[in-house]
Amino acid sequence: MPSIIDYRSDTVTRPTPAMLEAMFTAKVGDDVFGEDPSINELEQKTAALFGMEAGLFCPSGTMTNQIAIKVHTQPGDEVICDALSHIYLYEVGGIAFNSGASVRLIQGNRGRITAQQVAESINPSDVHKPVTTLVSLENTSNRGGGACYSVEEIYAIKRVCEQNQLKLHLDGARLFNALIATNEAPITYGLLFNSISICLSKGLGAPVGSVLLGNQTFIQKARRIRKVFGGGMRQAGYLAAAGIYALDYHVKRLAQDHEHTKAIAECLQKKDFVGQIMPVETNIIIFEVKGRFTPKAFVEAMEKHHIKVMAISPTQVRMVLHLDIHPLMVQLTIDAIEAL
Ligand SMILES: *Cc1c(COP(=O)(O)O)cnc(C)c1O
Repeated sequence: MPSIIDYRSDTVTRPTPAMLEAMFTAKVGDDVFGEDPSINELEQKTAALFGMEAGLFCPSGTMTNQIAIKVHTQPGDEVICDALSHIYLYEVGGIAFNSGASVRLIQGNRGRITAQQVAESINPSDVHKPVTTLVSLENTSNRGGGACYSVEEIYAIKRVCEQNQLKLHLDGARLFNALIATNEAPITYGLLFNSISICLSKGLGAPVGSVLLGNQTFIQKARRIRKVFGGGMRQAGYLAAAGIYALDYHVKRLAQDHEHTKAIAECLQKKDFVGQIMPVETNIIIFEVKGRFTPKAFVEAMEKHHIKVMAISPTQVRMVLHLDIHPLMVQLTIDAIEAL
């Protein structure tokens, strides 16, 4: 067991021995020529899982999101999303940089917006206004503390999009956490969105990679954009093999991360220096630290127990559960928090 217990992010996981074995024995080829059997398999497998036509393997979730926005918009168009969206907050202004599009931010509920808010944010046909063309949702919401959408709300948003000729994209970096928590089937999501981005390198534990899903025409365009973004890779099948392994073996176990997350949140709740804890739905805890501790002092106190957590604002700390956090580590963490 590693000597550090790292809750800063679910991106810190390392490949397991079995995943490394799958990578080591992968069949590979030049993917820019479309000749990497492992990448082709991963793209087809993921698309089939969601009942979508095609997939595109990319190095990061930032790239899959940015490619989707680029394909769905023209310069000067407007994208509707929640003010806490990863595509807005954490992708380096890529909506402007890559697509020349403007953004209409909605103040949602823990990263989730409603069909009514979307309807109210669509620009009228007016020569002064940017043309609204895309709505982007995030499920689970990262900055919203791992909050999940209900399928009913997404369906209502989809109807507003259809009535107004808007495309609907999903940043599903943690979509599998949402599917496990809400007991929904991937196929349901495939029917609701024009494009979906999923990350293999978060809770699923692959070292690298995201897959963008959509129909054939969309993915054909996306493949060209991936090339111009510098994301055309060659024998990346070694990475795709890790993704295939993750989809086969690391999805169901997310339920365990969710249980661990609840256990730690329950322990935090009892401490006088912990203020509001965002409702825990999946593998993320975002909580206020007050009184005897500041977030920075709490981070340092945990560091003494070789536990890494992250201060994400002057008042808040975030902890994220993942594949490399074992039950014993959770117990050690709970003991450390109780002793503070
Ligand atoms: C991590 C993440 C991404 C993609 O991040 P990369 O580091 O570029 O892979 C996208 N959206 C959300 C919500 C995320 O948490």
